[in-house]
Amino acid sequence: MKISNARVIVTSPGRNFVTLKIETDAGVHGIGDATLNGRELAVASYLTEHVVPLLEGRDPADIEDTWQYLYKGAYWRRGPVTMAAIAAVDMALWDIKGKVLDTPVYNLLGGRSRRGVLCYVHASGRSIADTIEQVRRLREEGYRAIRVQCVAPGIDNMYGTPRGMDGQQPDLPFVEEGWATEKYLRFVPELFAAVRDAVGFDVHLLHDAHHRLTPIEAGWLGKRLEDYQLFWLEDAVPAELQESFRLIRQHTTTPLAVGEVFNSLYDCHQLIREQLIDYIRASVVHAGGITQLRKVAHFAEPYHVKTGCHGAADLSPVTMAAALHFGLATHNVGIQEYAHHAEETPEVFPHAWSFSDGYLHPGEAPGLGVDIDEKLAARYPYDRAYLPVSRKVDGTASSW
Ligand SMILES: [Mg+2]
Repeated sequence: MKISNARVIVTSPGRNFVTLKIETDAGVHGIGDATLNGRELAVASYLTEHVVPLLEGRDPADIEDTWQYLYKGAYWRRGPVTMAAIAAVDMALWDIKGKVLDTPVYNLLGGRSRRGVLCYVHASGRSIADTIEQVRRLREEGYRAIRVQCVAPGIDNMYGTPRGMDGQQPDLPFVEEGWATEKYLRFVPELFAAVRDAVGFDVHLLHDAHHRLTPIEAGWLGKRLEDYQLFWLEDAVPAELQESFRLIRQHTTTPLAVGEVFNSLYDCHQLIREQLIDYIRASVVHAGGITQLRKVAHFAEPYHVKTGCHGAADLSPVTMAAALHFGLATHNVGIQEYAHHAEETPEVFPHAWSFSDGYLHPGEAPGLGVDIDEKLAARYPYDRAYLPVSRKVDGTASSW
């Protein structure tokens, strides 16, 4: 069997998604997600101009060799654009292999390690009372793990919370969020005390600091959250400096998660080897596909580090499908983030994966169990969009 054709489909059903479709001379096709939020067309161009011409004529069965060829053959390694492009090819090839062998991809990765993949959703409140109400409602909907974010008094347009009217800013192509570390640090322990008081301990609670703290501030916060038994404190500090997590570890036993912006094992090997984190957040789409993410997970297993894959709504249903096959099969999977897509997204990307009683399951369809309706996709043209930027009270740019 040979790859006969590959093409990139950019569509915006609710938000922008970049999808690679690989076709074979046997009539079987596979799809992969290449979405890089805010930089979608860079990956689309990298794929169309540089990767697609290399795929024609290759045997789709040789997934590992194709991965190494695209990674090493380009000479210029890593980075989110390159690795999202490789991830899309990788996902599509796993999809094809599953269809050819008439079995779901999880079966090719070693079979089931669990009945379903524990997932977490987002509660995002304007006040503590509003947040508690959301946590209660999500519990009633069957979710067993909930990320809790709430507007801290005095911070405008805070990450992970609903935006007020002043978040619209029509003169800018992006939203500007505010930041004040001291207000945030004062508020978060109060928030978790109130939520635990209201809903008890029979639900996993998570929190995302979204790269806003320094290591010593993160240690301070983690220590004060210990009594509330968080599942994890996410992205406490940016992790370009991997050893910065040593300082956090010296001060707190709150479990730590990081890595949604990572692109390969090389971004996290020190964090894992020194046991500086508990969960690695690398995702299928941004970390080179199933092939690379499996290597991250296998490397992490002896160090007691589990995966907790990023799963924001900008990761298409194709990535979610791939993440769930990986999640069902891989032993040291901890949890999967699950942010709901817009109503029109699953119409463009019909999929076999589903949610039930706190867990996600990839379904039993051969391959990844997800496809793209190209006719419908064409009705939603690309819509230029940017991620927000963050500034401190005095106007200094800060990490978003
Ligand atoms: Mg996050």
